Amino acid sequence: MTDRPETLVRRTPWPESSSRAVVTPLQPSVVYASESPDALDAQYEGRAPGYTYAREGHPNADVLARKIDAMEVAARGLVVGSGMAAVTAAMFACLKAGDHVLGGDQLYGRSLRMLSQELPRMGIATSLADPTDVAAVEAALRPETRMILIEVVSNPTLRVADLDGIARLANERGILLAVDNTFTTPRALRPFEHGADIVIHSVTKLLAGHSDATLGWVAARDPQLQEAITGTAVTLGLTPSPFDCWLAERGLYSFELRYDRAEENAAALADHLAALPGVARVLYPTRPDHPDADRARALLGERGGNMVTFEVAGGRDAANALVRAAPQIAFAPTLGDIGTTLSHPATSSHRALTPEGRAALGISEGTFRVSVGVEPVELLSRELGAAIAAASG
Ligand SMILES: *Cc1c(COP(=O)(O)O)cnc(C)c1O
Repeated sequence: MTDRPETLVRRTPWPESSSRAVVTPLQPSVVYASESPDALDAQYEGRAPGYTYAREGHPNADVLARKIDAMEVAARGLVVGSGMAAVTAAMFACLKAGDHVLGGDQLYGRSLRMLSQELPRMGIATSLADPTDVAAVEAALRPETRMILIEVVSNPTLRVADLDGIARLANERGILLAVDNTFTTPRALRPFEHGADIVIHSVTKLLAGHSDATLGWVAARDPQLQEAITGTAVTLGLTPSPFDCWLAERGLYSFELRYDRAEENAAALADHLAALPGVARVLYPTRPDHPDADRARALLGERGGNMVTFEVAGGRDAANALVRAAPQIAFAPTLGDIGTTLSHPATSSHRALTPEGRAALGISEGTFRVSVGVEPVELLSRELGAAIAAASG
């Protein structure tokens, strides 16, 4: 007969080991037990390190945050439950009724929705301007403008913002500059080095890199502002899942390898597509025919990133035929996966706009955005080339 525990309810102690695990442990605990009320008091007052309740912070989030901090050269960023949670934390910590926020006119769709719907309900005015044109940004500023939110490379037309010009302007006027660095990643650009006050990531995309974790990261240059952002995120409940943090940290080990390979593939694929008869236009930041080629070179050097946008002739019919002819490439509205994915902005990210609105941004029914992965580029060129031939045939 074996010894039976008196109750199954008590936790079994973790086995002792004189060796240690090499891999980061996964800690899903929601609560942390303290030794005494004095010890808990010391922890709450910051005199002793430790965790109390997972919404307020947990080890897997901190391990991941310290890694992204190092990549962005940030003092102490915060990992939150999604990229949009990062946008939310930054905005709700910094803004109040009566403020005005200026956004880039090609921001991520949900960030645009935040500006057009959520902030106005809170009494915060918003408007948009073209971030490639610093004069347009300046003209759109108001005395009550508190924050400018931009992305450096836009979705899906890959226009390159005048980051340095906007940072100078924001700095002169005492306006917070928030930069969503999801597309560019710290491999291509570190916004704090260009004068950003707040940097935001959808970690979901290239950083985690495997389409299996939804997370965000937000950091402020000013420690007091960072504290406010953290407090707001804890109150709003923007907490990340420990398991997602664990997956994302694992993903980061290969981030630089993945990024470099995907970028090399993207540059080669852009040149390949540009030479195909069925392709009306190719956009890639380091190509000389890119509308912001000079600024891309100045800001990003050779780092064109992993995104390529192209246009096939023949409208929606051609677009349907293209996707059907490339079943190996996931047709999915995301980016930054280790494998190549294809998206069609007119029916996904930009479906809320009118055809005229899309045309003004340079998006037609034939526009595709490719998030290039790490497959052999010859394979990608062959598969996409065949799909484009099928679409134009
Ligand atoms: C995906 C994305 C977001 C939102 O991130 P989630 O993790 O999906 O909430 C924000 N900004 C950009 C540029 C994105 O691509």
